[in-house]
Amino acid sequence: MIDTVLPTYNRAPLAFVSGEGSWLTDDRGRRYLDLGAGIGVNALGHANPDLVKALETQAEKLWHVSNLYQIPQQQALAEALVEQTFADTVFFTNSGTEALELAVKMARRYWDAQGKGERTEILTFEGAFHGRSIAAISAAGSQKLTQGFAPLLPGFTQLPFADIDAVRAALDASTAAILIEPIQGEGGIRPAPDAFLRELRALCDETGTLLIFDEVQCGMGRTGRLFAHEWAGIAPDIMMVAKGIGGGFPLGAVLARETAAAAMTAGTHGSTYGGNPLGCAVGLKLMQIVATPEFLAQVNEKAGIFRQRLEGLVASHPQVFEEVRGAGLMLGLKCKRANTDLVQAGYDENILTVPAADNVVRLLPPLNISIDDIATAIAALDAAAKRLHERP
Ligand SMILES: *Cc1c(COP(=O)(O)O)cnc(C)c1O
Repeated sequence: MIDTVLPTYNRAPLAFVSGEGSWLTDDRGRRYLDLGAGIGVNALGHANPDLVKALETQAEKLWHVSNLYQIPQQQALAEALVEQTFADTVFFTNSGTEALELAVKMARRYWDAQGKGERTEILTFEGAFHGRSIAAISAAGSQKLTQGFAPLLPGFTQLPFADIDAVRAALDASTAAILIEPIQGEGGIRPAPDAFLRELRALCDETGTLLIFDEVQCGMGRTGRLFAHEWAGIAPDIMMVAKGIGGGFPLGAVLARETAAAAMTAGTHGSTYGGNPLGCAVGLKLMQIVATPEFLAQVNEKAGIFRQRLEGLVASHPQVFEEVRGAGLMLGLKCKRANTDLVQAGYDENILTVPAADNVVRLLPPLNISIDDIATAIAALDAAAKRLHERP
């Protein structure tokens, strides 16, 4: 008999009942250090008092009104995002997948509005993840995501990751946009080199091609800058954001330059829930905390400590680990043993980590994790690696 909940997830036998900061408590009263943070969603940890207060204050006044009306909370969050980024305008969604849908629509309509309706193709990269809709799996293209779901949407071509010659060869008069995660998350914490991102920007400038960054996982302070692409000193034309932006409230956004967004006029796109007062009140509070030099300096400081200790961990378990990768608090341990075995051994040591492709274990702790908790994480990872030595 089928599970009453559609069984599309491989769930661990853990059920959490409460959380505080970087810690979760399960239904047996056991505490776990959360190094996955809902896959980078709980940017400020669990039950953050400032976010709880923002949510409660808004909940007492007004949960939802339609986008038929003015939503001042949405306006305020859009202004905060525009002020801190390359973007001139923002559309709010409930998820990363919905952000992908709009990014694709925006790129196609941009060219259509210029009488160049033949520029429809979007270049993407192997190992990418952009969500689970038909457009999103068509964009990523991997067998793992697309198997059994044909016909896929046309208009996407996957290229080897971070290969500028492949991009040059593929780019032609039908190309609308290039879409890339500056750091692949699901793909195994694979950063695109800064030089490659700059070359993409230059190529897009030369050819008028739109550059779309998917910062759903690597954005919102995760790498120690508000957005990961800032490290490369360039900016996209369109950017997808989600996960961390709501700190646990379902929220996403597409940020765009005025030129890229110009064809998205009234009636061309919409969302019932996207940008509702509750989500935007929480998102605004989170922005006010995260998008400050002091907070981002703390992320960088903690990331430096975490990374250095992870390098030590890898050095002391050469049979288990190959290397540390990533940036800021978006870290990956490339494993020699099965990554899922390490995740499992982590559960036994009271830590939560997340597997990714390429046999990587992901560490995406809350951005405000304490230095003590980083020490606890390293000790638990060390003990988990030792458990793997003892097993065949
Ligand atoms: C999680 C993720 C998405 C999809 O976001 P959902 O909110 O699950 O729809 C898209 N892109 C990247 C890079 C992601 O990590």
